[in-house]
Amino acid sequence: MDYYSTNLESDLVSYREALLQGQAPDRGLYLPTHIPQVSEAELTAFEKMDYPEIAYHIIKKFTEEEIPDDVLREMCRDAYNFSVPLESVTDRQHILRLDQGPTASFKDFAARMMGRQMAHFLNKEDGELLILTATSGDTGSAVANAFLGLKNIKVVVLFPKDEVTDRQRKQMTTLGKNIRILALDAKFDDCQALVKQAFADPDLLKLNLSSANSINIGRLVPQAVYYFWAYSRIARHASPVRPVIFSVPSGNFGDMMGGVIAMKMGLPVKRFVIAVNENDEFPEFLDSGVYRKNEPSRNCLSSAMNVGHPSNLARLLAFYGGVMDEKGNISIPPNMKTMREQIWSVSITDEETRQCIRDAWGNHHLLLEPHGAVGWAGLQLYLQENPDDTACVSIETAHPAKFPEEIQHLLGFDPELPESLKELEQSDEEFAFLENNYARFKEYLLKSD
Ligand SMILES: *Cc1c(COP(=O)(O)O)cnc(C)c1O
Repeated sequence: MDYYSTNLESDLVSYREALLQGQAPDRGLYLPTHIPQVSEAELTAFEKMDYPEIAYHIIKKFTEEEIPDDVLREMCRDAYNFSVPLESVTDRQHILRLDQGPTASFKDFAARMMGRQMAHFLNKEDGELLILTATSGDTGSAVANAFLGLKNIKVVVLFPKDEVTDRQRKQMTTLGKNIRILALDAKFDDCQALVKQAFADPDLLKLNLSSANSINIGRLVPQAVYYFWAYSRIARHASPVRPVIFSVPSGNFGDMMGGVIAMKMGLPVKRFVIAVNENDEFPEFLDSGVYRKNEPSRNCLSSAMNVGHPSNLARLLAFYGGVMDEKGNISIPPNMKTMREQIWSVSITDEETRQCIRDAWGNHHLLLEPHGAVGWAGLQLYLQENPDDTACVSIETAHPAKFPEEIQHLLGFDPELPESLKELEQSDEEFAFLENNYARFKEYLLKSD
C-alpha cells in the first residue's frame, strides 16, 4: 500500500516510511492512496473476536506485508492487554470507555501500537531513534508509557513545570529506563518552540529525531479499530444490524479520523457527531463553508481539546475531495454537501459540560469527565434535533479519576483511581529542570545520545 501527502507535493512512500517520517517533506499529512475494505462477512466474524484479534485484522490491511502476520498479531496482544468496556446507558445509547490503558486516556490505543511498530522497523534497519515530544499533560505520558522499554528508541519529553497536574507529571517521571523527562521553566508554547527548533537544527540530524504526535498515520490506523469493536459488540445483540451514530469529543481530530477511516472501510455509520469545546472553528466551518482558526485557542475545562486549528482537518477535507495546507488555507474546497450528510458538529460550552456531568450522574448514574461529557452533551443535542431510534455510541476519552477536583466539586465525591494510577502514588520520580534556552536544550540532547 502506498501513502501520499495531503499537500500533494511529496513522493508516495511505504507504510514504514510514513510511520518513521511522521510529517511528509511538503509539510502535508500521509494518507493511504486507497482505503482497504471490510466485507460483511468480516464484520460478522468480528462479533466473535476479542479486541486484539479485531485490531490485527484491521491494522493488517494498512501494513500488508510490511509487518509479518505473526509479528503484528503479537503486537496487538501485547499492546491491547486491557479491557475496552462498552457500557449501556439506555437501551440504545452506549458509552465506549477508552480509559483502561496504562495512562487512562484513549491516546494509549494509538501510542502503544505506534511504539511497537516503530521498534519493529528499527530493529530491522539497526537504527536508533530519539522521540522528542512537548506535552501539556496527557500526550507526554501516553507516549512515554508506550515507548517504555522498547529497543533502539529513546524518548525525551518536555513539559511546562507549572502547567501539568501532580498526577500527570508522575505518569511521566516514574518510568525511568529509556524515558527522560525535562521540566521547563516556561509555558507549553515554549516547550513546543524548543522541540520545533530541534527538529530544524542540522546539528541534530545524527540523533535521528522523530515525533510521535497526532499527525502520524501510525496513530490513526489503530484508532479505527475501536469503532469496529464497538459496532461488533452492539451487532451481537441486534438483528438486522443497522448503522450506528458515533459521538466523538474532538480536539486535533485524530480520534474522529479513525472513525471516518472505519466508515470509509465499510463500517455502517449513520453519522458522526463531532463535539468540540468552545474552540468552535469546525462547527462554524461545517455551517458556513468558511474556515477560521481560533487564534489563540480558547482555554476550556476539556483541556486536551483546546485546539484552535485541528491538524488532522487536512485529512478530513482530503476525504471529501478538498485540499487544505498545514496553515489552514483551503485551495480546493471539499464537497460540503456530502460532509454535512455524514458529519454533524456542535460546540459545547464549559457551563454545558459541567451541567452534562451533573445530569449524566443524576439521571443515569453515568460518570463522565469533561472530555467525555462534551461528547455526551453533543450527542444529546444531536438527538434532540434529529430524533430517531438508531443505536448511538459516545466515546469517553479519559478516566474520571484524572479530574478529581472537578468531579468532587460537581458531584461531591472522589472517583476511585484505576490500578494504573494507584501505583503512581508510591513510585519515585526522576526528572531534570531546564531553563528556557535552546542552547542548553541542544546540549542536553547531544549529551543524552
Ligand atoms: C487528546 C484528547 C482528546 C482529543 O482527541 P483528538 O484526537 O485530538 O481529537 C480528547 N480527550 C482526551 C482525554 C484527550 O487526551
